[in-house]
Amino acid sequence: MKFELPKLPYKTDALEPVISQQTVELHYGKHYQGYINNLNNLIQGTKFENMDLVDIVKQSDGAIFNNAGQSLNHQIYFLSFSPNGGGSPSGKLAEAINRDFGSFENFKKEFNAASVTLFGSGWAWLAKDAKGKLSIVKEANGGNPITKNLVPLLTFDVWEHAYYLDHQNRRPEHVDALWNIIDWKAVEARY
Ligand code: MN
Repeated sequence: MKFELPKLPYKTDALEPVISQQTVELHYGKHYQGYINNLNNLIQGTKFENMDLVDIVKQSDGAIFNNAGQSLNHQIYFLSFSPNGGGSPSGKLAEAINRDFGSFENFKKEFNAASVTLFGSGWAWLAKDAKGKLSIVKEANGGNPITKNLVPLLTFDVWEHAYYLDHQNRRPEHVDALWNIIDWKAVEARY
């Protein structure tokens, strides 16, 4: 198979209590794996067969786009966490957040609001443009800001499968807790 599930840099129970082991096992092991399997099957014999994932997301539509987008989105999502995460960013990313959102606290407030008000299934993103200017982008379903020529830096998955076992309908509770496991070094490396 062309695309494979990346190894997690932490154990499946390491993100507790923010994300339970059961949720990581289902979300990473079943949902994310499912998108990769679907993508591998769908691209066989098409012009996408030998493309990298980013190019497929930029150039495809329909079922291939949905599964490529979800494969890329979950890769960014699951590689943005650490059991030793939390706190706040430093360096150039911290400067850009202060410049474009006023403060880290205000950025978190705006990002939480985007995550909570996104109707239905989708993703909240922190992204940068070609000049390094930051913005918060809401994407439905499998959308990714690379299709708007932006670079994705951080994302919260607000599909119900990301939080329903742990928080049922209480999405705001899940979103608030996620900040405690963000691996800012991984996010800063994308800036
Ligand atoms: Mn998901």
